[in-house]
Amino acid sequence: MTYSILVVDDDEAVKESVEEYLKILKYNVKSAANAQEALETLQNFHADIIITDIMMQGMDGLELTKKIKAKYDADVMVMTGYSAEYSYEEAVRAGASDFIFKPFKFEELELRLTRVLREAEIKNERVKLLKKLEKLAITDGLTKLYNSRHFFSEIKTEIMRYNRYSRDLSLLILDIDFFKKYNDTWGHLEGDKVLMQIGKTIKSCMRSMDSAYRYGGEEFAILLPETGIEEACVVGTRIKDTISAHIFEPEPGEKQSVNISVGATELVDGENFKEFIKRADKALYVSKDTGRNKLSYF
Ligand code: GH3
Ligand code: MG
Ligand code: MG
Repeated sequence: MTYSILVVDDDEAVKESVEEYLKILKYNVKSAANAQEALETLQNFHADIIITDIMMQGMDGLELTKKIKAKYDADVMVMTGYSAEYSYEEAVRAGASDFIFKPFKFEELELRLTRVLREAEIKNERVKLLKKLEKLAITDGLTKLYNSRHFFSEIKTEIMRYNRYSRDLSLLILDIDFFKKYNDTWGHLEGDKVLMQIGKTIKSCMRSMDSAYRYGGEEFAILLPETGIEEACVVGTRIKDTISAHIFEPEPGEKQSVNISVGATELVDGENFKEFIKRADKALYVSKDTGRNKLSYF
């Protein structure tokens, strides 16, 4: 990958020689004669690293470093003369990744540059990995919906939001009808395909602000912020009907459909998450007790 570098120095000779040298090293390089010009350049030039002089007319290199670190995810290397009144500590405190004394050998600059870029790469990889792990920790592997652990943390967050901003909050709980029989007849792997398809269907039917969870083995929950019970019933019915209309083929030539029962409810003032879930569960059991393949609400 080609890294981009911005060189900032009010000493024309230094600026040009560093720029030329870095170009020979095949970096994508731009330069600026002062801090202001550097900030302007950065508005439409993505730099992985900025190499700046410290002592400059107007805004100095430390101030520039602080401004860059506040706005961009880039590394800054500062260059200074031995006689300057700036210390290494000050530069690091401002956010600089490295410090180099002028005059320097280009080989030293190159070595330091390579090290800073390598460290940034390692840091980026670590951040990416962490994000991946965080996502994995809240995702159900089979359906790719969120898992039940995330459900319990999100439902509490949504209830707090409800209390703070007095916005509606609804909950749907879905359970597959006679799923044990489906598994017993067609096998667990075919049952898993049903779960995956239901995950897809839920995703395609819900709105962007809703969130869906695999709440138990064959139970799903959907949180609907800013949604009253009527609208929640519309979403729940859409999901139920879309699933019923899907044709599964657990064996060649065997056309099967699967139904679900749904319980819907809306949060009531002063209620905690347990009471909220319990009411949705009760509504689900009404659907189960009165014939299944339907939605009930409280
Ligand atoms: P009801 O209509 O009353 O909900 O009946 P049911 O058979 O769906 O309910 P029951 O609770 O008796 O059985 C649930 C079944 O869900 C049993 C279990 O094999 C199945 N199940 C739970 N988790 C998974 C899973 O991860 N994969 C598969 N294939 N089946 C699962
Ligand atoms: Mg169940
Ligand atoms: Mg079931």
